[in-house]
Amino acid sequence: KRMISTELMEEDRRLENTLRPQMLVDYIGQTKVKENLKIYIEAAKQRKESLDHVLFFGPPGLGKTTLAGIIANEMGVNIKITSGPVIEKPGEMAAILNNLQEGDVLFVDEIHRLNRQVEELLYPAMEDFVIDIVIGKGATAKSIRLELPRFTLIGATTRAGMLTPPLRDRFGVVNRLDFYTVEELKQIILRSAQVIGVEIDQEGAIELARRSRGTPRLANRLLKRVRDFAQVKYDGRITKEVASFALNLLEVDKLGLDHIDREILLAMIEKFNGRPVGLEAIAATIGEDAGTIEEVYEPYLVQNGLILRTPRGRVASDLAYKHLGLDKLTEEK
Ligand code: ADP
Repeated sequence: KRMISTELMEEDRRLENTLRPQMLVDYIGQTKVKENLKIYIEAAKQRKESLDHVLFFGPPGLGKTTLAGIIANEMGVNIKITSGPVIEKPGEMAAILNNLQEGDVLFVDEIHRLNRQVEELLYPAMEDFVIDIVIGKGATAKSIRLELPRFTLIGATTRAGMLTPPLRDRFGVVNRLDFYTVEELKQIILRSAQVIGVEIDQEGAIELARRSRGTPRLANRLLKRVRDFAQVKYDGRITKEVASFALNLLEVDKLGLDHIDREILLAMIEKFNGRPVGLEAIAATIGEDAGTIEEVYEPYLVQNGLILRTPRGRVASDLAYKHLGLDKLTEEK
C-alpha cells in the first residue's frame, strides 16, 4: 500500500484516536465549516433541541470523523459510529436507530454506500423520527410504526454527488471540507508532536506540512515515521534536515508526490506528448483503475495545479514539467 495513501491504514488507528481534537476550539483550519457549526450548535442548545442532520463531504483524512465526534462533545451527547457498507439489512439499521438516546449522534461514514432498502429506512427516520417495520410474511404481514428518539445523523462521503437526491435533501447542514494549507498543517503537526512527545522545530514542521498532501491523516502518519528516523539516525529532534532525509527515503517528494503521482504526470507528458488526455487513457497507460485515479490521486494534483482539467481532457501544467525537471516542447506545427 502507498505510504502517502490518505485512506485509513492499520498503523494510523491508535495514533488517530489519541490525536483527535475533542472540541471545536482545538480543531485547526476549515474556518468556514467551524463558524457554521458553532452557530448551529449554539442555536440547537439554546432551543434544547437536537442538531439538524449534517453531511460532510471531501477527500479522506481531512477530519470528517473528527468533526462528528466534536459535534457530539459540544452537544453533550453520545456518538455511535458505523459505516455504509457495514450495514447490510434494514433490520440492522432499525436496531441501531432504536438504541439511540434522545439527542444522540449517529455517524455514518461512506454513507453513499448504504444499500437501497437501508437508505429508504432512513428517510422517515431523518424526517419524522419514525420507522416502519414489517412483521411476518405474505397475507399475515403487517407494518408497525416505531417512534425514535430525536437524533442527529451525521453522514460522511468523499463526494456529495454520489448521494441520491432524496438522501442529500434530508440533510439540513451540508459542509465541504477542503485540503489544508501548509500553515494549518504545520499547526496540526506541532500539536500532534506535543501530544506524542517528540521534539520538532518550526522548519521541520513546515517541511512535513509541505509533503502531506493537504491531509492531516497523512501529516500525522509521516510525523510518526519521521520520528523513528530522528530517533535512530539523529538525536531524536525533528529538524528540516531530518524531515527531508526521512521523507526522501520514503520516496515522498517535495510536493508530497510519490512514484504513482509522478507516473501519472509522466504518462501525460511523455506518452501523450502533453496533449489533452482522458482519464481512461491515463489509467490504461499506467495500469491503475480509472476510478482510483479520479478519487485518490487526481484531486491533489488538480488542487496543486499540476494537472489542468480542460473541456478536451486533462493536461499536465507547466508546473508539472518544472517539478519533474522536464523541458516543455513547443507545440508541433
Ligand atoms: P476523515 O473522517 O475525513 O477520513 P478523520 O476525522 O479520521 O478524517 O481525520 C484523520 C486524522 O487527522 C484524525 O486522527 C485527526 O487527528 C486528524 N485531524 C483531522 N482534522 C484535523 C484538524 N482540523 N485538526 C487537527 N487534527 C485533525
